[in-house]
Amino acid sequence: MELWYTEEHTKNVRFSIKVDQHLYSMQSEFQRIDIMESYEFGRFLTLDGSMMLTEKDEFIYHEMMVHIPMATHPRIQKVLVIGGGDGGAVRELCRYPHITEIDLVEIDEMVVEACKQYLQKTACALDDSRVHIYYEDGLKFIRRMKNHYDLIIVDSTDPFGPGEGLFTREFYGNCYKALTEQGILVNQHASPYYSTYAQSLQKAHERIKGCFPITKLYSAQIPTYPAGNWVFGFASKLFDPIKDLDTGAWEDLGIETQYYNTDIHKGCFALPNYIKQLLVK
Ligand code: SAM
Repeated sequence: MELWYTEEHTKNVRFSIKVDQHLYSMQSEFQRIDIMESYEFGRFLTLDGSMMLTEKDEFIYHEMMVHIPMATHPRIQKVLVIGGGDGGAVRELCRYPHITEIDLVEIDEMVVEACKQYLQKTACALDDSRVHIYYEDGLKFIRRMKNHYDLIIVDSTDPFGPGEGLFTREFYGNCYKALTEQGILVNQHASPYYSTYAQSLQKAHERIKGCFPITKLYSAQIPTYPAGNWVFGFASKLFDPIKDLDTGAWEDLGIETQYYNTDIHKGCFALPNYIKQLLVK
């Protein structure tokens, strides 16, 4: 009997992956956590049935979340990751020797435990001595932080369920307050292609624009995300991600990547018209 995982992207569009084994399935206080083994994408994590990451293509998402800000601001030392319980963003951050502190605020401890057990490739750096994990709501955690972080990465689920609060003006305003005067905020804006996601992208971008002087979107192609196209938000108090990119300085770090490079860095901020039109209110 064939086993398939199917995610509904819209009422009329579904995405399916053939499953070899269902490795893990638990209901936490916040969501249903599943990890499956597939023939095409290796192991993958879903939360409440939504695709979070696959072993095969997570490198694209995590490299683009981390190396874009890290190549823009050369002196990032203190980083906050909100969500990201799979450890992928933390793994990429730990490749920078000049980072001294990584706070990971993940609401659901069961996600971390499951990823440590079944997704070691993503969760491999969670024990790094610079990493401190807080199992709490990022919306509440950020309220008590002021002028502390050089970079905040919001790697949450989409704006439904526990992730909803992380797309509000209050949250973005508190991120601004928690950042130093050269601070950068990067967040996942989901897919611009289907209307439900496009509306949430529009709203989130508007709210961020109300808090930060420099705000841009950039995109990457992620095969297992809706429409294969994913958009990230880049918000900054000082640095411009293109004008201030020091290609030589980043390349001298000798960090080997499979997706990110400094040409992609310059190119990914060029947006197709249908996304640009979303931003014109
Ligand atoms: N790459 C995925 C994506 O783009 O949808 C995100 C993956 S990561 C596993 C998402 C994490 O955000 C989950 O582990 C979830 O528990 C966490 N999360 C959701 N809402 C949160 C909140 N309010 N505070 C902290 N973590 C939260």
